[in-house]
Amino acid sequence: MKNQMRLEFDSVSANEAFARVTVAAFMTQMNPSMEEVADVKTAVSEAVTNAVIHGYHGEVHKITITGEIEDDWLMISVEDQGVGIADVEKAMEPLYTTRPELERSGMGFLFMEAFMDEVRVESQPGKGTSVFMKKRIGRREA
Ligand code: ATP
Ligand code: MG
Repeated sequence: MKNQMRLEFDSVSANEAFARVTVAAFMTQMNPSMEEVADVKTAVSEAVTNAVIHGYHGEVHKITITGEIEDDWLMISVEDQGVGIADVEKAMEPLYTTRPELERSGMGFLFMEAFMDEVRVESQPGKGTSVFMKKRIGRREA
């Protein structure tokens, strides 16, 4: 089975729920478990929140999500054209945050990595950030 979707929306925090529910609806055709849906929703939320807060510093610009299903693999990308990340490896370290004053705890990438099978980040300062995530769905016993 192959399927693709693309979603573009404003970087306002109200759209965090919209994004995670939309991705959850998209993956329904894969017959996922409740846990798999919850995992993907959490990962999408974290990536979208990062785009809103860090990428655009609360300014309203566009966030794009693409979804792709290929057999039992779900591929999701969350992209912004915001400030970008100078050192991706460092940003992905547990507890690393550039916004402690906002009570951020530096756990977002850790959650994405915990709940997805693969997380890859491409970023260029001044150009934006793309988070690519993959998860294999439906491995549970029937
Ligand atoms: P938490 O997610 O626990 O609230 P956090 O957002 O700071 O805290 P992570 O989600 O792990 O933690 O992100 C780590 C750091 O990576 C951020 O503090 C920020 O500096 C940078 N970062 C993450 N996503 C983006 C993005 N889309 N654009 C620019 N910088 C980002
Ligand atoms: Mg975060």
